[in-house]
Amino acid sequence: DGAISFKDVHFAYDPARPILKGISFDVPAGKTVAVVGPSGAGKSTLSRLLYRFYDVQQGTITIDGQDVRDVTQKSLRSVIGMVPQDTVLFNDTIAYNIRYGRPGASDEEVTAAAEAAQIGPFIRHLPEGFKAMVGERGLKLSGGEKQRVAIARTILKSPPILILDEATSALDTRTEQEIQAALDVVSKNRTTLVIAHRLSTVISADEIIVLKDGVIAERGTHGELMQRE
Ligand code: ADP
Ligand code: ADP
Repeated sequence: DGAISFKDVHFAYDPARPILKGISFDVPAGKTVAVVGPSGAGKSTLSRLLYRFYDVQQGTITIDGQDVRDVTQKSLRSVIGMVPQDTVLFNDTIAYNIRYGRPGASDEEVTAAAEAAQIGPFIRHLPEGFKAMVGERGLKLSGGEKQRVAIARTILKSPPILILDEATSALDTRTEQEIQAALDVVSKNRTTLVIAHRLSTVISADEIIVLKDGVIAERGTHGELMQRE
């Protein structure tokens, strides 16, 4: 479920400067494909096209064979979960932040998601913010803890498709490894598109796509790419 296919995708923000010049690859259902490449290569643009923040100018993107241009943004958002580089929290409890977008979720479900993401002890707390000014003490979450909130939100949503957009790149090495381990659990058996700038962070991906100058410069497993270097 949730197989993604990029076929001959072209995109430019400015017609004079094409960003993607005919990108084709698949993310088979339940598999993890990582897109790596230097900053500015167009990696995030691929995820924005999948999410339909923008539409492709040539080529197609399909999910389970259906062109995303025939799908509303609302329904795309219901099947795609996203863990961004920096999670911005609302000034409300961690539980509220985890439940965000899923008003129907029960307290038990929110607690279970928080525990699975190892942020359980914090769920009644408020992140640092305006509530702190009205007398309640805000809790200053570290970058890794904020990513755990995003992971808990994703566990609760349980989308068939996951986009991890530099989800660990703002963290120090040790925290990065912990959060990566949590993300590996969440992405198991989900169709996952990972965006990263370093090959070393996507060792376990089923396939790695190296983007350079708007085209796929190389592709293969981590082992295959290392052997070719
Ligand atoms: P990456 O994720 O690989 O770092 P992006 O997909 O974010 O790259 O961006 C690719 C290129 O497109 C960059 O040169 C960036 O400056 C440019 N770009 C990104 N977003 C916009 C935008 N909204 N308008 C114009 N140019 C953009
Ligand atoms: P979702 O169903 O994934 O929650 P939404 O439409 O509610 O989708 O949210 C759109 C995007 O905003 C998603 O990528 C989601 O991860 C992100 N988002 C959700 N909560 C927050 C938040 N507290 N701050 C910033 N972005 C958020």
